[in-house]
Amino acid sequence: MDLLNYIDGEWTSGPGDLVLDLNPSHPSDIVARFHNSGPEEVRAAVAAAQRAFPMWSNTPAPARGRVLARFHQLLVDHQDQYVAIMMAEQGKTRGEALGEFQKGVNLVEFFAGEGFRLNGETIPSEVPNNLTYTIRVPLGVVAVITPWNFPFAIPLWKVCPALVAGNTVVFKPASYTPWVAVQLIEDLIAAGLPRGVVNLVLGPGGAAGEALARDERIRALSFTGSNAVGNRLAALMAGRSVKLTMEMGGKNAVVVAPSADLDLAVAGVIQGAFGAAGQRCTATSRVFVHEEVHDTFVERLVDQARRLKVDAAEDPKTNVGPLISEDQVALSIRYVQDAKERGAQVQLGGDRAQAPGYFMLPTILDGVDLSMPVAHEEVFGPVLSVLTYRDAQDAIRWVNSVEYGLSAAIYTRDLAEAQHFIQAVEVGMVHVNNPTIGGEAQMPFGGIKNSGIGPREMGHEGTLFFTEVKTVFVDYSGSGRQGNFY
Ligand code: NAP
Repeated sequence: MDLLNYIDGEWTSGPGDLVLDLNPSHPSDIVARFHNSGPEEVRAAVAAAQRAFPMWSNTPAPARGRVLARFHQLLVDHQDQYVAIMMAEQGKTRGEALGEFQKGVNLVEFFAGEGFRLNGETIPSEVPNNLTYTIRVPLGVVAVITPWNFPFAIPLWKVCPALVAGNTVVFKPASYTPWVAVQLIEDLIAAGLPRGVVNLVLGPGGAAGEALARDERIRALSFTGSNAVGNRLAALMAGRSVKLTMEMGGKNAVVVAPSADLDLAVAGVIQGAFGAAGQRCTATSRVFVHEEVHDTFVERLVDQARRLKVDAAEDPKTNVGPLISEDQVALSIRYVQDAKERGAQVQLGGDRAQAPGYFMLPTILDGVDLSMPVAHEEVFGPVLSVLTYRDAQDAIRWVNSVEYGLSAAIYTRDLAEAQHFIQAVEVGMVHVNNPTIGGEAQMPFGGIKNSGIGPREMGHEGTLFFTEVKTVFVDYSGSGRQGNFY
């Protein structure tokens, strides 16, 4: 499959090096390829988006929403295609790909309806015979830069609200997952999106991504990815009047309290830690277990995790698919080695799995302490650290001890304990008796501390990010403004 840029309504090849899109389950399989693009293609894409902006922003919002409604139907019609691509280029198991697909179509359905909800507010004026209200207006050309771990849902939760709010878009997907992105653009075009409204540039972060961030015509950047890149982009764009939403890393924790339903907790931790091979920003990577239940919990956890089948994404029996690259496997193993050298015990896994692709065994480390890098740095692999606590206050302190603040969960039957946890943990998303992962289209998604910059994505807040407020004063007294001119 040869993949192309989509700029100003035309499919064109980039001029740069050939990039191979490999199947992480079978790295000798080339699933697609493309030629890199750089600053010149980015400039052309921004120019096209700028030309399309007056027409698209003047299209009534419900009509923009209807384009997304048609897009939603096309996605549903093409479910098998998307699932197959996600399995081939990202290494998702069928179940994971179907889960991401469902999340993505829910998002499109929600954002299509936002066309009817882009209202401002009427606010009482202090002046007689004056009508005062706000309206929501689009920003202009917005940039979208996305990671490889949710190549379907993340682009949808950025591009769709941007479009329904009346903006035009330049989209740079991750170089590991360009095929899903191309397929999404094809369906947007088929849904009737006019020329120039969305533009796709395939190219490396350092060249294409940075060129986008440096382009002064960009009015907003919606980025998801690593802290290193997100912070660099925020610094690059500082001093310009550009809106930013940056969703970045996580180091998410589960607390297992003495009253927890241990089977539920084990199932939730396994799902959170080893689903998507640990490559979720919301993955569970630390579990704080009360000393009263520690031994039973760890025994059951290891027993359940041992049964997980690590294998190629297309094998229907696979529970844990590949990581995205050899580098990601090597990095995860380095964290485990380091923790072992510092005194942690490997209860399960710790090494690569015996398969030709980029596989790592689900890994459980016990006896971890907070000073170990594995306990406070994002790993992005199937590596879980277990720590034991005695005092509930310590557990909360430990949850909060990292630079990240994305997601946290508690397993407990004690309502007061759950409520206290909800209040005290420094994260953007809290779960009770649920894994740290997951979200719903209509619910805001994102983190605090170093997990994010700017407002939340998804939900109505996700749409409002792509708008500005315009405040309107209408004097209908016929005698000029009678109020105070402060
Ligand atoms: P990444 O390396 O930061 O890449 C993310 C995107 O940025 C890719 O499109 C990448 O392009 C581009 N990029 C790289 N360097 C750039 C630069 N100098 N200027 C502009 N763009 C640049 O992250 P990743 O490895 O794809 O994704 C994993 C990270 O994403 C993890 O930290 C994870 O926690 C985070 N994440 C966060 C959330 C959340 O909602 N909080 C959700 C999912 C993932 P190339 O692919 O071409 O390098």
